[in-house]
Amino acid sequence: MHAVGETEWIIAKASELGFDLCGIASVEGLTDAAHLEEWLARGYAGRMQYMHDPRRADIMQVLPDARAIIVCALNYNTSTPASIEAAAQAAGQVLRGWISRYAWGEDYHAILGKKLEQLVAAMRAHFIGPWHARTYVDTGPISERLAAQQAGLGWQAKNTCFINEKLGSWLFLGVILTSLDLTPSNAPFGVPATDLCGNCQLCLEACPTGALVEPYLMDARRCISYLTIELREGIPEELRTPMGWNVFGCDICQDVCPWNRKAPVTLAPSLQPRQNLLAPELGWLLSLKEGEFSQIFAGSPVRRAKWRGLIRNACIAAGNLAGKYAIDTPERLQLQKRLSELAVSSDPLIAEHAAWALSRFEASG
Ligand code: SF4
Ligand code: SF4
Repeated sequence: MHAVGETEWIIAKASELGFDLCGIASVEGLTDAAHLEEWLARGYAGRMQYMHDPRRADIMQVLPDARAIIVCALNYNTSTPASIEAAAQAAGQVLRGWISRYAWGEDYHAILGKKLEQLVAAMRAHFIGPWHARTYVDTGPISERLAAQQAGLGWQAKNTCFINEKLGSWLFLGVILTSLDLTPSNAPFGVPATDLCGNCQLCLEACPTGALVEPYLMDARRCISYLTIELREGIPEELRTPMGWNVFGCDICQDVCPWNRKAPVTLAPSLQPRQNLLAPELGWLLSLKEGEFSQIFAGSPVRRAKWRGLIRNACIAAGNLAGKYAIDTPERLQLQKRLSELAVSSDPLIAEHAAWALSRFEASG
C-alpha cells in the first residue's frame, strides 16, 4: 500500500490540470452487479446493447490486476439560464429547441480524455516501476458515478445523476483504473459519501415522461436523453408530446435540483455554448442538410444523434410548439413549408415525424 501522501499527490496534480474534483477508491465495491442485473432484466436499458457488456458486472475483467480507481470531475455549468427558465422566456417568440447543457461546448470525451492522459503521464514520471492504467470517459464498462461515490466525492441521486455537495451535478466524470495500490481518498473509514437527497422528490415530480420510475431508478426507454440521442428509430407516439422542445438530451431533472441552485460556473472557453447551440431556432435546425450538420457539429457531442436523429427530434419539438404560436406569421408558415418538404423525404423516419408535426400544426391552425 502506498502512503496517503501518494493519494494527495495525485489529487493535487489533477487540480493543477484543471479538474474540479479528484478522488480515489479501491476497486472493491465498484460494481453493483445485482442492481445492474435487475435493471437489465426489466428492459430499462432499451436498445443500449453496450449496457449488457459482462465486464460491467466485474471490473477485474477490464483490468485483471486493477487495485484502485482515480475519479476526476470537470464542472461544465455555465452562467446561462436553466432549460425550464429559458422555455418560459422563449414562449411566444421564435420557435426554438433545447440542446442539453453538456452538449453546448466541445466534446467532453476529448477534453477529459486529454486531461486524464496528462495525469497518467505525470504519474508515470512519479511512480517508477511497471504498473498499468486504463482511462475512460463515459465509454468503458465502468460506472463512473458509482466510482465517484465510492471515492467519497458525492452521491448517486434520486435522478440517477452524481451530485457533489458544493458543485452540484453539472459534472463530467472520467476515471483511471490502475494496478497501483493507492490509499482511498476517503480513508481511513472508506465509506462512500452520504446521500443528501433526503425527502426531496423534485426531480421525480418534474420528469415529463415518467422515466424516473422510482427514486434512483430510471427506465431509460422513457428518458428524453435516450430517446433523442441513443434511439435510432421512431419515437413512441405517447412520448412525443412530453418531450416538449427538447431536441438533444434533457436537463429538467437537474434544472430542478436544489443542489444545482448555487452551482459554480466554469469560465473554460471550450465549455461555453457554441454559437447557435443555446436554444437553437427550429427553423434553422430543420433547414440543415446532412453535410452542413457534419460541418457545424464537428467536435460537438451533438454529432452522436446524427443528422436524421436531430431532424426527427426537431420535427417533434416543432409539432409540440405548434399550438403556442400565432397563426399566419411568416415564421410559422416557413416552418410548415419546410415540414411539408420533409414529409415527402425518402427517409421514412424523417417523413413520418415531419407528417406528425404537420398534423399538429393543422390541428392548431
Ligand atoms: S433527463 Fe429528462 S426525461 Fe430523463 S429522467 Fe431527467 S427529466 Fe426525465
Ligand atoms: S431534485 Fe431532490 S431528489 Fe432529485 S436529485 Fe436533486 S435533491 Fe435528489
